[in-house]
Amino acid sequence: MKRTLWIAMILVAGCLLPMRPPLRAASVCLHRPAAPRMLHVPELHAVFAERKETPPEDDEAESVEMKSTAHENDEREIAEPRETARENDGSENIGADKESIVQEKSGGKRRPVIDRDDRDRSRSGNRGNDGRDSRPDRLAMRIAASRENIAERPSPLPGRTPLPTDPDTPLSAANRADDYAILFQKKAGEAFGLHVVCRFTLHFGDEDTIAMRFGGAPEFSVSDLRVRTEPETIWHRDPDGKSITFVSGSERRCRIRMEYDYLNLHSALIYQDCGCELWETSYDEFYYPLLPGERCRFEAHFELPEGCRPVGGYPADEFHAPSVPGPLSARQRSGTPDASAPFRAPFAPSGPDTHAVQPISGSRTANSCGSDSTAIRRFVFRSTHPLTSHSLVFALVDTTRYRERTHVLEGDTLRYWLMPEPVVPESRIEELHRLTAAAIAFFERSLGPYDDPHAGISAPPVYLFHGSGYSNRNNLNLISLSQAKVAAKPHLLPVAHELGHRWLGEWTLFVPDGTEAAYFLKESLVEYMTLLFARSYYDRERFRILFETEYLRPAQALRGTADDRRLIDMRRNNNDRAVYAKGPVVLEKVASAMGYERWIAFMRRFYTAYRYRPLTYADFVGLLAEEDPIAAAQLDRLVRTY
Ligand SMILES: [Zn+2]
Repeated sequence: MKRTLWIAMILVAGCLLPMRPPLRAASVCLHRPAAPRMLHVPELHAVFAERKETPPEDDEAESVEMKSTAHENDEREIAEPRETARENDGSENIGADKESIVQEKSGGKRRPVIDRDDRDRSRSGNRGNDGRDSRPDRLAMRIAASRENIAERPSPLPGRTPLPTDPDTPLSAANRADDYAILFQKKAGEAFGLHVVCRFTLHFGDEDTIAMRFGGAPEFSVSDLRVRTEPETIWHRDPDGKSITFVSGSERRCRIRMEYDYLNLHSALIYQDCGCELWETSYDEFYYPLLPGERCRFEAHFELPEGCRPVGGYPADEFHAPSVPGPLSARQRSGTPDASAPFRAPFAPSGPDTHAVQPISGSRTANSCGSDSTAIRRFVFRSTHPLTSHSLVFALVDTTRYRERTHVLEGDTLRYWLMPEPVVPESRIEELHRLTAAAIAFFERSLGPYDDPHAGISAPPVYLFHGSGYSNRNNLNLISLSQAKVAAKPHLLPVAHELGHRWLGEWTLFVPDGTEAAYFLKESLVEYMTLLFARSYYDRERFRILFETEYLRPAQALRGTADDRRLIDMRRNNNDRAVYAKGPVVLEKVASAMGYERWIAFMRRFYTAYRYRPLTYADFVGLLAEEDPIAAAQLDRLVRTY
């Protein structure tokens, strides 16, 4: 097929991507039409240039925007006396004195602080040009009314699911896929594409079928798929539903081997050609078959062209294996099992198989990993414990375009991957060190240790900077940041938000997408904890200014607009401003009434009880009801009505 037709198809797929079709019932797809091969960088450039594509924004981008209006160096604001600072009186600090808070002197003329950032202004919905909200403070009125009502008629709260008595019990869900070995191969010259081979065992238990998430853009992500099952069984792939379903045969256990090419359109559209590719399951790119919320033992191998290396939350060691199967020559990571196992063993066919993995040879064209070499480098990661099945997330970095920088942090090594441009001032790097140490210390004090060997977390995060203006992300222990924003933004609190996702987020709280208030739990909680971190990192006055200018006023500005949705309806990761503005406002209301220390103690109890377990909003509010029924009723009412 001609390339122009491919590009047209890519455009169509790009238009469809943000729509994120829901998971549908699997349809039989034993003979799907062949999908196109991966695109090369020049072709993608042509797509971007022609379309002037704006990548879909992620939730973190919203978070950044919300925070970009802070006044890092504005001592005048902080020094001004405030009359309304109250430690524990939420009803009065919501909406009180807001005009005096949000204004600053600028050349003798008063203007709203929130108006500083053009992008924030563009996001301010139907606010006036000066960003102010002239409506009465209906929130305060409503909260005051709700407080009275709470005393009169306690609202019935949803009950939570009883927990196992042993807090170290693994996931309550069955771990149906296990013994996972996966190989990612990249040819030189192929951008945003991988050849993937994986093998795993499915345990059906009492189920007749197991449906795994698999695939991305329906027509483009997966091509040349070959599946082999032992014993032989039926499988169905549903490209639109991004799933692959296996049907149980006579045995309740089945060994699966899959081999395919994968084109990662999300990574191409968002990160484009900055020298790194991010492979993130968060964007509904299921580049390997997985069962969200379950765990399995991983063995991940990478075969990459010279000049390209994987960077991820799980460290992959480079080794230099001979071209034929043989023992690994790399040093064994402490605690990793059986490093002497033959490299190709997990991928060698166990019976007659025409699809054995062949070493790939590179073509001599530049690719996103910047290499024109035919040499192949190999990296491997093995998990010592069953890990979150959707957590095999990594970046492929062009080492000719990036440089690694390290910094010793509390005895550990903090790693950065930086592009040459835009230059990040040295003072900003030092600020990032300090903030990283302080934020980790705060979250550790509040919620528990950063390291968690059972989850594969045993080192500080890796920071990967990229050229996209969007997308701060926490991919488990890999935090990706816009280099331009880190270089220029007034403060780095969004980084603290990402660090907080180590405890509160998709890698530890398995809240199913689509359920009530799913993103209130995944995003509002960590956003509010970040605000409490600011309260300890700066001071209470700064905290109050941040709250008023970056949360309360945006939440008020949201009221009555098309984007004004209830927190209970925040079911999907679709950039709802309410998650980052209204969520913290509601939580501040509840926590300030409870007392901050008591709130943090509750959050610790919540995290400890539910980490790595499936949970719902009802579990969260039910646990709070055990701690403080009045607070739980108040929170539940606001989440459902505000
Ligand atoms: Zn987030």
